[in-house]
Amino acid sequence: MALPIVKGSRYTTVLPSTGAEIEYRPYNVGEEKLLMVALESKDQQMIIRTLKDVMQSCIFDKVDFDKFTVFDFEKLFLALRAKSVGEIVDLEMKCQDTECNSVTPVSVNLEEINLTDLPESNTIIIDNDIGVTLRFPGVQDVERYDEEHLAKPQGAFDLMIDCIDTIFDEEGVYNTKEEPRESVEAFLNNLSSAQFRKLSTFFESIPTLTHNIEYKCIKCGKENELELKGLQSFFT
Ligand SMILES: [Zn+2]
Repeated sequence: MALPIVKGSRYTTVLPSTGAEIEYRPYNVGEEKLLMVALESKDQQMIIRTLKDVMQSCIFDKVDFDKFTVFDFEKLFLALRAKSVGEIVDLEMKCQDTECNSVTPVSVNLEEINLTDLPESNTIIIDNDIGVTLRFPGVQDVERYDEEHLAKPQGAFDLMIDCIDTIFDEEGVYNTKEEPRESVEAFLNNLSSAQFRKLSTFFESIPTLTHNIEYKCIKCGKENELELKGLQSFFT
């Protein structure tokens, strides 16, 4: 005898960078298990791979995650998580008083988490007529490196090189994909600190998932305040 299959609901969400609508169903228990195993591994590449697989199964149209910005990807997962498991995530937050260190349970409503605004422009004028156009880091870019490398200055630098689309001057526009990577790296190394700062400002203003939480420590009563940032901080 064939057992019945429970039909799920359909929802839509909007990608922040393009405004494109994505239609999806919640993930099921089997898929949730895959996600939990991946998250527990703390292996960034495995986590992204599993997220991609599960998210693709839940999205009705075929999507190319390699073209997704990191923040679109995170926002989409958050929407999926909210409809699959529920909007409320229970976190255990440490007291910021280093002598206390007690853990207080805190609930976060995923639907209240917003992305910061997009930067005004992706064109940066570095000096007189020389400038660059930048793109947002994509899922593909982050997947290429491990988390440890990305946290180092060289990692941030590598990601910056990946995200320079073109370099231009009064004579023309140079597509960096057609230039050797070493040339792009040399271009960056040649900038003054003040010029380099203009580029880093763009990367610092990339939309991120942020949420401020306030909680009173259950042990010492200290009022704690913290900004949660990035996908993983909402799940660990
Ligand atoms: Zn405390």
